Amino acid sequence: MNLIILGAPGSGKGTSATVLRETYSLAHISTGDLFRYNIKENTPLGIEAKSYMDKGALVPDDVTIRMVEDRLNNPDCEKGYILDGFPRNIAQAEALDKMLAAKGSKIDAVVYVKCDDDIIMDRVTTRRVCEKCGASFNVKYMPTKVEGICDVCGGNVVQRSDDNPETVAKRLETYRINTQPLIDFYNERGIIVEGNNNVDSKTCISSIEAGLKNLGL
Ligand code: AMP
Repeated sequence: MNLIILGAPGSGKGTSATVLRETYSLAHISTGDLFRYNIKENTPLGIEAKSYMDKGALVPDDVTIRMVEDRLNNPDCEKGYILDGFPRNIAQAEALDKMLAAKGSKIDAVVYVKCDDDIIMDRVTTRRVCEKCGASFNVKYMPTKVEGICDVCGGNVVQRSDDNPETVAKRLETYRINTQPLIDFYNERGIIVEGNNNVDSKTCISSIEAGLKNLGL
């Protein structure tokens, strides 16, 4: 099963993606995580991406598309995957269609995680992530057992540099302008499955799983 997960930054799509990855044994491809890995390793790609990410802007399409194409060629994608954070605009969606058609493959469903902006702002500015394994925590709602230390791998848990109120507001605006139109793009194909994450991720995941079943997946 090949999935895309769409939703505003901080809507909880990362958490939903992690659950779906486990349930359906999928490779989890997060473009944000791939960029952050490159930044940490100080690669030329990371250096270029950082300047855009710090402003809450999108990294240029050509760089992003090439990175995803490389990742999709990895053998772990043969069992199915979930794309998290890609595509983020129509140009990327069209490029994805093209690269999948060339392989005789396609996207089976697009998971759309909904969440209100005020809830997102609260959750994202209190979010903390593990530098080593990427696990996500929250100082208010899901604190680590030992402050600053990851429960999963013992790595350092920090605030992402783009999780401050100004950059979050900018990222939400970028999302509305560039990414929201993808809902119509995929709706026309009848492959959208929705979950609402305003209350809790369990309810959200249940409706997503029911929606996938309805699509015969
Ligand atoms: P995320 O972790 O998905 O919130 O992504 C963090 C940042 O990485 C975004 O604000 C963008 O700057 C960049 N980014 C992630 N995915 C993409 C993409 N598909 N296209 C362009 N930029 C991206």
